[in-house]
Amino acid sequence: MKESPDKEGISRYDQVFRNAVELKNRIEQHEDEALANREFQLYLQPKNRLADGALAGAEALVRWNSPKLGFLPPDSFIPLFEKNGFIVQLDFYMLKRVCQTYPMTVPGTGEALVVSMNFSRVTIMREGFIERLLHVVDSARIPHEAIEVEVTESAFVMDEDAVINKLETLKAMGFRLAMDDFGTGYSSLNLLRKLPIDVLKIDRGFLSENTDPSRSRSVLKGVLDMAGDLGLVTVCEGVETEEQASMLRELGCPVAQGYVFSKPLPEGEFRTRYGL
Ligand code: C2E
Ligand code: MG
Ligand code: MG
Ligand code: MG
Repeated sequence: MKESPDKEGISRYDQVFRNAVELKNRIEQHEDEALANREFQLYLQPKNRLADGALAGAEALVRWNSPKLGFLPPDSFIPLFEKNGFIVQLDFYMLKRVCQTYPMTVPGTGEALVVSMNFSRVTIMREGFIERLLHVVDSARIPHEAIEVEVTESAFVMDEDAVINKLETLKAMGFRLAMDDFGTGYSSLNLLRKLPIDVLKIDRGFLSENTDPSRSRSVLKGVLDMAGDLGLVTVCEGVETEEQASMLRELGCPVAQGYVFSKPLPEGEFRTRYGL
């Protein structure tokens, strides 16, 4: 991106870099304050059964509504928080917020809605993670089966065995496990062999318009058949159109998450919309 300098002699590349550093500094300056001021917000996005659209669960997603920095999506601050360690506090804050909204009982069935949460590898690998998680969930008297722990493939890049070990412990305690963004990371199939997961979330890249539709379809079909054989529930992420939904339905995908059903909503709005 090296370009010619502007009139002050600063190249475009330098400007972008300076802005990024400036944002990083500003974020780090405000993160603690933001937590105290409740600037991090819990959004929930539904997962829906493809057969009839019924609510099948929800994913908790963080948003940062900062009076000083504006409304920030997770991709703009999570990588930084993973580097400076603040993600541990944020992940636990989100867990507490989810516990506060529990129970959400699905109208008609009377069953508690399962909420899935994203935990960073940094959080999972922090000493005392399991004990702390148990403390939060048990003091709120929430059944472990109501919480699904989503971990992305990339979490296993380092210390694979140690991460697997933590997840096995959680599974043995009754928490549900989901592998997030399946198919984007490294050694997906190898992980599938080893990890005691309940849910496979297929990355939205598999629905990308930039790939040959018949090839995408074959890959999707293969993944869905394999997941079925393994007894896993498959959730396809990023389903935006009715055409995509009906293709997935045909291929036998049980659950979808995406704008075709709903964008992530502020927690209160989500409850109102679904009568929870
Ligand atoms: P993810 O866990 O894979 O979450 C799904 C992402 O896909 C969300 O992005 C969601 O808004 C987006 N999405 C859902 N449906 C559609 C669709 O139909 N089309 C498109 N284009 N996108 C869709 P979001 O909320 O921006 O979150 C990005 C990532 O940030 C998440 O990816 C997750 O890895 C991470 N994240 C979010 N909240 C937390 C958190 O509390 N803790 C941690 N550690 N990570 C989080
Ligand atoms: Mg996720
Ligand atoms: Mg995902
Ligand atoms: Mg993701």
